[in-house]
This record gives sequence, structure tokens and C-alpha cells, in this order.
Amino acid sequence: MLPFASTGDAEVAMGRDLTAVETAWFRYSTGMSDFWLYAHNVVFLLLVYTLAPLPFVMAELKRPKAIQKYKLQPNVHFPVATFVKCYKNVVKTFIVAVGPLQLLSYPTIKWVGIRTGLPLPSVWEVVAQLAVYFLVEDYFSYWLHRALHCRWGYQHIHRIHHEFSAPMAFAAPYAHWAEVLILGFPAFLGPALVPCHILTLWLWFVLRHVEAIETHCGYDFPQTPTKYIPFYVGAEYHDYHHYVGEKSHSNFASVFTYCDYIYGTDKGFRYQKTQLAKVFYIFFYPHIYTSLHITAKRSTENTVY
Ligand SMILES: [Zn+2]
Ligand SMILES: [Zn+2]
Repeated sequence: MLPFASTGDAEVAMGRDLTAVETAWFRYSTGMSDFWLYAHNVVFLLLVYTLAPLPFVMAELKRPKAIQKYKLQPNVHFPVATFVKCYKNVVKTFIVAVGPLQLLSYPTIKWVGIRTGLPLPSVWEVVAQLAVYFLVEDYFSYWLHRALHCRWGYQHIHRIHHEFSAPMAFAAPYAHWAEVLILGFPAFLGPALVPCHILTLWLWFVLRHVEAIETHCGYDFPQTPTKYIPFYVGAEYHDYHHYVGEKSHSNFASVFTYCDYIYGTDKGFRYQKTQLAKVFYIFFYPHIYTSLHITAKRSTENTVY
């Protein structure tokens, strides 16, 4: 809750004029309790989950040729009933797990020092904090996801998320309620280590949610802006993890690929990509494949061991 009675009071206390965004924040948040501001997260998560997958759902139902060529598993198609069933299941999980987890974590959020007042953070502060949150969440969710692939974890918990061997956008948070709680923990860890403003916290959960929807969307568009983020997982990478399913010991990462690379859990994916590239060149550019093959062979023969 803001400690100022008016924007004038805030300006006197801060020793400067409020920015337009700070004035808007003052008008919006004044009189609201910190708990109510924190509870916005539940609404945002539900809104993002409902709206962000819709373009991918439309692409799946209408199947325009221009988009279908980017589908990662082109032979798999979902009827409307599958989308509805998946959506209903996830909303149920929101009600029994995500919502309560968000609201019950409020005392912790207060304790670690998430603030709601003025001044607002600078853009660079927000960017730096989000970078830390993504890195922390990525590292811990890598190990938790990997642990969920043990026999017991998979059979009792993670199996639900892998029901979709071809992932689709609505299936991003489709999981056992226990998995939602387990993998929710790393999402809180970053803000606990580096406390931020509530606006940054809202943005963090929204971006993480959008990222999960994108990696499960089932399409690999060449112009996706996230392709410019170094070591970014992306849809193709996570699609492979779902495609292989229970036996998958590859591609556990949720945001960046470096953990899989360091701990050697991306070998299956890299091998498959090499083989597919070979097949592509053999069929479409046999002359290039032949010359590359000869060059590689010669360099192996010339190597002195
Ligand atoms: Zn998995
Ligand atoms: Zn997944």
C-alpha cells in the first residue's frame, strides 16, 4: 500500500516529479492492499493461459498451408474436444494448486521484501532482475525436471505432462498438481534471492508463462524473436523431449540449453538433428553432401594420431 496521500506528497518525499508511469501506478494502486496487488498474479496467469495459445489453436484448427509447413509433428492433429479437455484440466489445476500456491505464498513475498510503492524500478533494473530470475529458475527446474524422469517420479507425477507426445500451446501447464507445485518452487526462488517491485514480479510470471506456451506450441517459426536469445530452448528443442517421452534422457531444460549441454543430456537431440540434416542433403543437395563427406573423410585420413 502506498504511504502517500497524494501525488504531491509522493513528489515531495521523492524530491522530484513523478513520471507518467509512476502517476498511473499511484492512481491504480492507491487504496489497494499489498495482498490484493499480489493476487493480481492469479488473474494474469489465467488470462495469459486463456489468450496466448489461441493463435496456435486457430492455426491447428484451420491448418493454413503457409503455417502448417512450420509444424514440428505435421502428422499429429488435435480436434476441438482435445483443446477443451486440456483447458478444463489446467483450469482445475489452477484452482486447486496454482491459485492457492500464489495466495499462500503472500507472507513469504512480504518477508523477502517485494515492494509495491514508489519509486518504480528503472528499465535496466527490471531487465537485470528478470535475467537473474530466468537463470535461477532454469537451473533448478532443469534438475527437478530431470528428477521427475526417474521411474517413480515419471509414473506417479510427470506422466501426465507427457500425455501429449506432440505438445500444443494449451498443454504447457498441463501437469499433475504436484508437478505444478514442484516446478513452481524455482519460479519463486529468483524473486526471493533478488527482491523486486510487484510490477516486475507480475511481468516475471507472465513472461515465464508465455515462454512455456511458446516452447509447447508445436510450431517452429523461423522469424520468432526468441531465436535471437543465446542458448534459448525454443519449440523444436522441447518438442523432441515430448516426442521421445518416458524414455527421454534428453532436453530437460526449460528456458536455456546450457545445462543440457554441460551435463550431456542433449546428445540424443543433437544426434537426431545431425541425422536429419544428412537425410535432407542426401535427398535435396546430394552434390553438396558428397563433397562435404569427401572433405570430412580426407581430413580424418590426414589426421596424425
Ligand atoms: Zn519431461
Ligand atoms: Zn513440456
